[in-house]
Amino acid sequence: MTIDLEALYIDLHRHPELSFQETRTAGVIAKHLADLGIEFEEGIGKTGIAAVIRNGDGPVVWLRADTDGLPVPEQTGLAYASTARGTDPSGTDVPVMHACGHDMHVTAMLGALERLVNTRNEWSGTIVAVFQPAEEYGAGAQAMIADGVLERFPKPDIVLGQHVTPLPAGTIGVRSGTQMAASDGLTVTLLGRGGHGSRPHSTIDPVVMAAATVMRLQTIVSREVDPRHVAVVTVGSIHAGLKNNIIPAEAKLELSLRYPDDEARERVLAKVERIVRAEAQASGAEQEPVIVTDHTLPPTINDVAATERLVTAFDRAFGDGTVIDPGMFTGSEDVSWFARESGAPLVYWFWGGVDPEKFAAATAAGRVEVDIPTNHSPFFAPVIHPTLERGVDALIVAAREFLD
Ligand SMILES: [Zn+2]
Ligand SMILES: [Zn+2]
Repeated sequence: MTIDLEALYIDLHRHPELSFQETRTAGVIAKHLADLGIEFEEGIGKTGIAAVIRNGDGPVVWLRADTDGLPVPEQTGLAYASTARGTDPSGTDVPVMHACGHDMHVTAMLGALERLVNTRNEWSGTIVAVFQPAEEYGAGAQAMIADGVLERFPKPDIVLGQHVTPLPAGTIGVRSGTQMAASDGLTVTLLGRGGHGSRPHSTIDPVVMAAATVMRLQTIVSREVDPRHVAVVTVGSIHAGLKNNIIPAEAKLELSLRYPDDEARERVLAKVERIVRAEAQASGAEQEPVIVTDHTLPPTINDVAATERLVTAFDRAFGDGTVIDPGMFTGSEDVSWFARESGAPLVYWFWGGVDPEKFAAATAAGRVEVDIPTNHSPFFAPVIHPTLERGVDALIVAAREFLD
């Protein structure tokens, strides 16, 4: 049998699912794995799947694809655009879209597995393919590990993964060392004292406290971090109050923090805590603010020797000039938990999904940031060809490089 990859991609794109709810997606993956005669287990870390191809002695290569969509209303105007809805963890009905391209990751992985199975006389070793849920929560990899994926399957000698990104289709972006930032998501609750909007002097206003805190947090990156270093402090959500004449009792801020390594992480976290507590004190708060860490993602660090080896293999397979160093991304990933927990090296690369002519025109006009939608945008949609073919081939080249 041969999987119709374009039809598979369109089907997945039309039916995105939120994190930890990827049941239909898992069903589609399971059906194809069964058709290919590949051994697999479902329901690992709730909606994850791991598959194994045992093919004699040799290294164990883990390939990882993430499977979840996002609460984004698709506006691509494509014939196969998603109109799906889902229920988020708060119980709210939301639009759902594959706005990060994980549908492309799943499709490329199944395409690569089919070809690797059909060419098993050309290689030896073991392939473990991990279809990981809930990357967008930063929780799926840890959920699969907590569910024993590292014990239930052969342990990796290397972990490999890829992400589709706004580079010209055909291009691969990878660098040695830190490829993606570490990240923490924090919820900060500022506690004031509520009362009547006409009598502010009898209250401790958490709205003013929140406003001052948000502004002061901006000085961490601009005034306190060495300008030669990278850090991001984003307050992505702020909520307080229900009505103009009621001063509420509390305000909630949600922060996204990014840094290149664990040392910078400690420093930025300490600065955030200092400012949050000091602004509460400046407002005369009677209760300490509550700071909760919602998720922590380690930096995605590519093994230097393995990355060099892989870049050489990509150059050989796709021609010089295909591979570029995209620099460190301030986005974050949970793929590296599989490598960290098993002690195996990791290589994680990006591959382009933008029509090369469109990308060249945007570059010439100095409008790449404006005209080329990024991951998580309602306009993000990779061109199917040759993105799909390059994604399949990159996985095969990478797997074969580290197998015997
Ligand atoms: Zn994403
Ligand atoms: Zn993603």
